[in-house]
Amino acid sequence: MKGASYAAAVAVGLGLFATPFLRYGFGGGHSHAAGPHSDHGARHGGHLVMLHDYHLELVEHRDSIELYLSDAFRRPLRPDSCAVAFDGRPATSCEWRSHRSIVPKPIDGQTGLYQVGVGEGPLLTLQFP
Ligand SMILES: [Zn+2]
Repeated sequence: MKGASYAAAVAVGLGLFATPFLRYGFGGGHSHAAGPHSDHGARHGGHLVMLHDYHLELVEHRDSIELYLSDAFRRPLRPDSCAVAFDGRPATSCEWRSHRSIVPKPIDGQTGLYQVGVGEGPLLTLQFP
């Protein structure tokens, strides 16, 4: 029994030490790099797109789409404006909810055209999917 609990403790220890490599291993950059655009990993299970100096991660659900906006260093940003036009229909405004912009997706929605405003720059335009 003593041997079994030792093995379990070792497994837990390995798990803890392995975590940073799993978290940063897929970032697409050197794990020690701290410069802009050194991290292009999707953090919320979605698709990451880079537009101008910003990163947009879109996470599609059955009836909604989440947008996580971040800067060149992947620091989360709240957009000044966010609207999505599905299949050429009038645009729907996103709703800001705890670090992400959420928009309801029509059940028959095929494509969404995002227009995201940040600061003084031009609108970030993104066709989805
Ligand atoms: Zn980038």
